[in-house]
Amino acid sequence: MAHKLTLPPLVDTHAHLTFDPIWSHLEAVLDRATQTGVGRVLVPAFDLNSWTKIKSLLSVNGIYGAFGIHPWKASENLDVDELRHVMRLPDAVAIGEVGLDFKIETFSKQQQMELLKVQLDVAVSMNKPVMLHCRGAFMELLELIKSYDGRLRGVIHAFSRGPDLAFEFVRLGLHVAFGGAITRPNAKRARNAATMVPWESIVLETDCPSIGLNDVAPAQTEPMHVSEVASELAKLRDTTHAYVAQITTRNAEMLFGLPEIE
Ligand SMILES: [Zn+2]
Repeated sequence: MAHKLTLPPLVDTHAHLTFDPIWSHLEAVLDRATQTGVGRVLVPAFDLNSWTKIKSLLSVNGIYGAFGIHPWKASENLDVDELRHVMRLPDAVAIGEVGLDFKIETFSKQQQMELLKVQLDVAVSMNKPVMLHCRGAFMELLELIKSYDGRLRGVIHAFSRGPDLAFEFVRLGLHVAFGGAITRPNAKRARNAATMVPWESIVLETDCPSIGLNDVAPAQTEPMHVSEVASELAKLRDTTHAYVAQITTRNAEMLFGLPEIE
């Protein structure tokens, strides 16, 4: 994506461009992102079908991919050698979206744990960051991260809980990704966390088209809305949009090894 901006370009660190309605309107979506000052987009995988789509996007300027299997798809057959192989593609920057979701009953805790561990092992051995999804399993996830003794890097995505839990992840060296949730006035816990997490540990995301903003329905969200998340964070922390853009973009560059944009 070309960019001609006065503000530092933002990074949407978690956008499911492979999901409809985005996938069928991708060009327009990416144009709007560019117009809104979103310079780069990270696309997490969901299932094996999404790997194919993400591979086809990696040649697009400004798009980076993550590969992995989401806990909702824990029955898919992960080929670890294939995961290692795709992670060597240029612009494959993270293992994700992976994690634990103990609120779903489709797959047992044990099945999810096993799938996650295999993928975290690949991340650690290849020194790649992970994009973590977590629902109803925070204690288990924190324990698992601890077992890697500081060798695991990555981000707890779509963070919507309070500051105490956020700090647990920060203490283990993880980043915290804030998104649409912080734009909702009644999301007190997430807004508190967004106010308190150290600047160097924050990245921004939309999780489009899965999570809405205060004034945007989930299905309508796209990477351009990360600009609204940045504005809300600026308000919450009493600073400017430009400062938020500068610091969160730098964080994303360092965490995911993105080349700097001039
Ligand atoms: Zn996601």
